[in-house]
Amino acid sequence: MDVTQRFDGLQADIEQDFGEKIVALRRDIHREPELGFDTVKTAEKVLAALEGLPLDIQIRVAENGIVATLEGAGAGPTIGLRADMDALPIHEETGLPFASETDGKMHACGHDGHTSMLVGAAHALCGMRDRLNGTVKFFFQPAEEGGGGGKVMVEEGAVEGVDSIFALHLWPGLPFGTVASKAGPIMAAADSFEMEIKGTGGHGAMPHLAADAIVIAAQIVTALQTVVSREVDPVQPAVLTVGEIGAGTAFNIIPETARVAGTVRTIDPELREKIPQRMEEISQGIAGGMRANVTLNYNFSYPVTRNDPASAKLALGVATELFGETSTLEAEHPSMGGEDFAFMLEKVPGAYVWLGVGDVSGLHTPQFAFDEEILPRGSALLTALAMEALS
Ligand SMILES: [Zn+2]
Ligand SMILES: [Zn+2]
Repeated sequence: MDVTQRFDGLQADIEQDFGEKIVALRRDIHREPELGFDTVKTAEKVLAALEGLPLDIQIRVAENGIVATLEGAGAGPTIGLRADMDALPIHEETGLPFASETDGKMHACGHDGHTSMLVGAAHALCGMRDRLNGTVKFFFQPAEEGGGGGKVMVEEGAVEGVDSIFALHLWPGLPFGTVASKAGPIMAAADSFEMEIKGTGGHGAMPHLAADAIVIAAQIVTALQTVVSREVDPVQPAVLTVGEIGAGTAFNIIPETARVAGTVRTIDPELREKIPQRMEEISQGIAGGMRANVTLNYNFSYPVTRNDPASAKLALGVATELFGETSTLEAEHPSMGGEDFAFMLEKVPGAYVWLGVGDVSGLHTPQFAFDEEILPRGSALLTALAMEALS
């Protein structure tokens, strides 16, 4: 059987056989978003949607994650497909009839879509079990948005014995239905930091008797902008963003402390080590010169998401077979966003791919929404990836 024959009509079949189920599941998950590791109801919905399929199911992996295993009829490699299940602490403003019913929680990163697409792929692959040589493992992972659920799954041994692994992410800004990926780094290392500046508090009218934590924090925030602009090779991608700054209780009090927090994104591992050293030296120098102290807590969180070149090539090849050359794109640059699928790719060769949803509001915005036509397309892509990797 040749490749084109195998993928012919795959998306249409999935749409016809499971389309309604995938959309219903997505809406059901969307209505009840859950954060971090607390994906209890989401996992229940996934289990209900997988019921009756010939899967060996492990629950409570990485707290509320699921690993479902499909043994094909013949012997062969083990392929992993992964979806994330968690939502974000954002108040939804889409106006959708199935919008979040919980104030302050929303599926604003499309993980409801990823989970439903993976359930669709599980149905499709179970239906062709007799023709599969090898094993497919479906990973439903909590806590992608901070918490590192992917890391916990790896630590619990969930990806042991997996020969290659794939995941997709809905991608605003990429033309609708287009699949993009690249060899090597596709998402950045995403680290966070927190600084406490400790000066001496005092009366707003007597600054000479105080060491003003606000003025020092302001100097440090400004100086941190020179880390990327003056310390990093201009052709090397790096981002340093201060996202939080806080101090003070009243207009006429000089506060003793100030807090500054932010994120650093890099691709190069050496640069990833160097940046916190320079941040420390620069902020200590400023604080010391102004009669204060600073403590830097730096958290190396998600490493670079690095695609195995052969797996990225396989993914783009499958996308071309499925959707045509005009719907497949080799990405030029990585995104500076972070992704905890990185931990799985550190253990198992594989690829992370972007699936375009066109010009919609960005990920992590209260208006993020996508056309559900993308769901069977994503299911078909995941299904075809497993078929191809098993062939
Ligand atoms: Zn996200
Ligand atoms: Zn996401």
